[in-house]
Amino acid sequence: MNVPFLDLLAQFAALRDEVQVALNAVCERQSFILGPQVAALEREVAEYCGVRYAVGVSSGTDALLSGLMALGIGPGEEVITTPYTFFATTGSIVRTGARPVFVDIDPTSFNLDPSQVEDRVTSRTRALLPVHLFGRCADMEPLLSLAARHGLAIIEDAAQAIGAQTNTGGRAGGIGTLGCLSFYPTKNLGGFGDGGMILTNNPELTDLLRSLRNHGSKGPYEHPRVGGNFRLDEIQAAILLVKLKHLEGWIEARGTRAQHYHDAFQALDLEGPDALILPDIPKRGRHVFHQYVIRTRRRDDLARFLTARGIGTAIYYPKPLHLQDCFAFLGYKEGSFPESERAARETLALPIYPELTAEMQTFVIEGIDAFFRGR
Ligand SMILES: *Cc1c(COP(=O)(O)O)cnc(C)c1O
Repeated sequence: MNVPFLDLLAQFAALRDEVQVALNAVCERQSFILGPQVAALEREVAEYCGVRYAVGVSSGTDALLSGLMALGIGPGEEVITTPYTFFATTGSIVRTGARPVFVDIDPTSFNLDPSQVEDRVTSRTRALLPVHLFGRCADMEPLLSLAARHGLAIIEDAAQAIGAQTNTGGRAGGIGTLGCLSFYPTKNLGGFGDGGMILTNNPELTDLLRSLRNHGSKGPYEHPRVGGNFRLDEIQAAILLVKLKHLEGWIEARGTRAQHYHDAFQALDLEGPDALILPDIPKRGRHVFHQYVIRTRRRDDLARFLTARGIGTAIYYPKPLHLQDCFAFLGYKEGSFPESERAARETLALPIYPELTAEMQTFVIEGIDAFFRGR
């Protein structure tokens, strides 16, 4: 048997007819940028995420960048974030000229440890940028109260977490000042190319974001500010509208598979500091399992073993951002964020997607059992 890490073809096979009808309609209209499909997607995603406004943009990265731009964040200012995330989170902060200030993660959730944030707040701090990593919401309550106390904005990087909920029922991307989504093809809601969206309840920020995504324009050839080409296209929106109808079912399917891994690994009795540490499944709130990430000190050997058996895995992320060459100017070093560094050494993502069959999942579980029992 072969269990790919992800199988987008299997998803497409189930959607082929719906997608082709939607694509044909766009072809027949020959309107490709910021048209009726984008507007409809903005309405539907806003409703799904429980916010008043949504602004479609060209990628999750551009959602973060234009969000920071809309808040006027720039040189001389600081944004507090996590070093254990995809590059774009920090890359976007640096591109505005502001300084990212890292805070280590909580090893159980892999998210920003709120208890360490306040010590990093200075007179230059403008915003907090938590990431809802792997589809689990960051611990937002303490961040919200801290932000209120210090007058900071919160930008949620919800690129991996559409549909997730916090322990108090807040929807990912709809809790902070702004929330950023990615529709990169491998995300839980993915297009056939790049795409993203910014969520907010603030009408002024919405207007600003709509201007920024179109070169800072206000009407044709009038530019009160400099923006970029951050526009979402109709083909992506048409496909995403089709897929959005399936998202809840897909999230349920991911949750079922996560629970099955959990129960099966517990029954194998492999848990322990030298064997396997399972991802925590929060009792309250909703984890959408963009990734199912286990940890073990024998991570690299395990990954090789599973690959040899035809089981795909992935490492998110092998190098925390404070150790990336391009951020050396920030002055961090090995040891600055021990939990992020340990996660980078120990984590391994297993196949988890709605199309993963029971047989495939059993094969993965048997592979892990075989490794730890030395078979
Ligand atoms: C995917 C991702 C992004 C960037 O999204 P793109 O659409 O690829 O630009 C940002 N942050 C996180 C945490 C992501 O996973």
